[in-house]
Amino acid sequence: MLTRDAIIVRARELGFADIGFTTVEPFETQRRILLERWELYDWTVARGMDLMPGTDPAAVCPQAKTIVVLLENYFKQGFPAEMTGKFGRLYLEDDRVTKDRLQKRLKTFRHFLREDGIESYILPYLPHRHAAARAGLGTFGKNCLLYANRGVRQGSWVTALGLLIDRAFAPDAPTTEVGCPSWCRDACLAACPTRALTAPRKIDPRRCISYLTYFGEGLTPRELREPMGMWVYGCDHCQNVCPRNQAWLAQELPENERAAAMAPDFALANLLHMDAAYFQNRIWPYMFYMPVAEIWRWQMNAARAMGNSRDPVFVPDLARALGENADERVRGMAAWALGRVGGPAARRALEAAVGREGLVGQEAREALERL
Ligand code: SF4
Ligand code: SF4
Repeated sequence: MLTRDAIIVRARELGFADIGFTTVEPFETQRRILLERWELYDWTVARGMDLMPGTDPAAVCPQAKTIVVLLENYFKQGFPAEMTGKFGRLYLEDDRVTKDRLQKRLKTFRHFLREDGIESYILPYLPHRHAAARAGLGTFGKNCLLYANRGVRQGSWVTALGLLIDRAFAPDAPTTEVGCPSWCRDACLAACPTRALTAPRKIDPRRCISYLTYFGEGLTPRELREPMGMWVYGCDHCQNVCPRNQAWLAQELPENERAAAMAPDFALANLLHMDAAYFQNRIWPYMFYMPVAEIWRWQMNAARAMGNSRDPVFVPDLARALGENADERVRGMAAWALGRVGGPAARRALEAAVGREGLVGQEAREALERL
């Protein structure tokens, strides 16, 4: 019969950064936070990501006896410069659709357990980070992220994967405290561009750039467009500024070949002008939170990033989108972005659009006023 040590050894052989064990007791703190701040999280239900059931895993999966938590370092290799600062690093390694990397190893690990008669279950929206901290794998940062206790140079570039299993194992000692050094003056809170971090360990997810890039409703409000900067999908800013991550960031890492191969398809101009077939074949398999019906949000994000680049090279693409894109939210953002880049060509494109009705004409007029 498998021992804890044998499971730990196998997880390490499979390349996981760490592994820990915890009980299936309810995650009371997480449940209380959700209840107290439900107005910040109620959107998860409409998106099919209801977080509440995950706070009581044994109620959802009565056969579960233990949670085994695996820690995956998703930043073992360096990402292409043209993608860094636009796409969250986590998503550049996401294989939940392609199943060609982490998912393969996870499957092998689950098969290893099954060979010994241990069944494992993946519970959607288990509070994985809380499970990891309870399993002694990491402490929290004031930016709400988990920082590894061992390996990854104690950084936050980790994904926690909690698996419910139907065999009891002794739990590890929890490390659920905040592990930030006292000398850090809350750099993450100060640096968050959209002020989503409202207090230590408190985030308003609806103001987080990650949420805004893939779930934001309608044309991005004007006051958020500049703060969202160049981010197109996700955001790493509060991790990049964190002193707990500098040891990992200072390394020279080998190139991530998968991300390098993806990079040309994710060029801003290609995203702005893509059609449904391009999206489904080249984008969605890697970054899948938005379905094809929401392709407009990808295009709007690309237009906003072009504007914030202030690079005149994007003016022809923005002018084309302003004239041709089928969605007025994309055309509206293209107008705003042209105003942000400026120059004679941008002015001409905006002047041609000022007479249009609705938000496109309005954005064009306001962009011209700012030139
Ligand atoms: S991911 Fe970006 S927007 Fe979200 S909390 Fe961190 S810095 Fe703020
Ligand atoms: S920036 Fe400072 S306060 Fe924020 S998570 Fe890092 S160490 Fe903690």
